[in-house]
Amino acid sequence: MTDGALDVVIIGGGHNGLVAAAYLARAGRRVQVLERLDHVGGAAVSAHAFDGVDARLSRYSYLVSLLPQRIVTDLGARIRLSRRRISSYTPDPASGGATGLLIGPRPTFEAIGAGTDASGFSDFYRRCGLVTSRIWPTLLQPLRTRSEMRGNVLSGQDAETAAAWEALIDRPIGEAITAAVSNDLVRGVMATDALIGTFADLDDPSLIQNVCFLYHLIGGGTGDWDVPVPPPIRW
Ligand SMILES: Cc1cc2nc3c(=O)[nH]c(=O)nc-3n(C[C@H](O)[C@H](O)[C@H](O)COP(=O)(O)OP(=O)(O)OC[C@H]3O[C@@H](n4cnc5c(N)ncnc54)[C@H](O)[C@@H]3O)c2cc1C
Repeated sequence: MTDGALDVVIIGGGHNGLVAAAYLARAGRRVQVLERLDHVGGAAVSAHAFDGVDARLSRYSYLVSLLPQRIVTDLGARIRLSRRRISSYTPDPASGGATGLLIGPRPTFEAIGAGTDASGFSDFYRRCGLVTSRIWPTLLQPLRTRSEMRGNVLSGQDAETAAAWEALIDRPIGEAITAAVSNDLVRGVMATDALIGTFADLDDPSLIQNVCFLYHLIGGGTGDWDVPVPPPIRW
């Protein structure tokens, strides 16, 4: 390298570009980040959305569930995250929105006539956790192949974990959601994490909806939620 030369040029100053640049710089590389906007942060910035209202709102990414503590520590990032207690609230069209399904410390399955789905909902996310809690620690390691990851997740585990892997990774996620609960509104709330932004459907053979679902759940599979019902990670 000659004086003034760069080792790495990163196009885009979103959070991924910034994290990569920070790690490279700490490793002694000369890095330049090129950002087309007048600010960095990409989709993870908030903005004044309403004239005259002194509040900054997220425009895109508004929940953090995929930021390992190790990155915060490694980079000395000064960041304070707050845990939300309510995962989501979905008004029930059947009652014109007078009732709805709240997912949080005291979920309201009864209010929408889905009391019998409460345990199925909870057990569904417990089974998801059997898989996601074993994928999460690998997030900062070299990417494993599907079969390597399967071996990693199932090693020493029982048949229930193998079934959870199949439901979450191998089969269209619509099958597991449909089997777990019977109320359409509850199914819709669960399905949102699989469908949002994908334009897929729950039974899509490409399984792109499973990928989307996994990303939403993986950070919540670490078991550190403080609510009795493990909530979906709604973006
Ligand atoms: C509506 C919505 C909601 C979301 N909600 C969440 C959420 O709640 N939680 C979550 O974890 N994720 C969420 N996501 C996903 C998340 O926003 C992305 O995964 C994340 O922003 C990706 O980060 P990034 O740094 O790779 O890219 P980005 O954040 O997209 O940043 C890319 C940067 O590159 C710049 N750029 C692009 N092209 C060029 C160029 N040619 N030259 C120079 N600069 C360029 C852009 O201006 C931008 O600053 C959401 C996404 C959307 C769309």
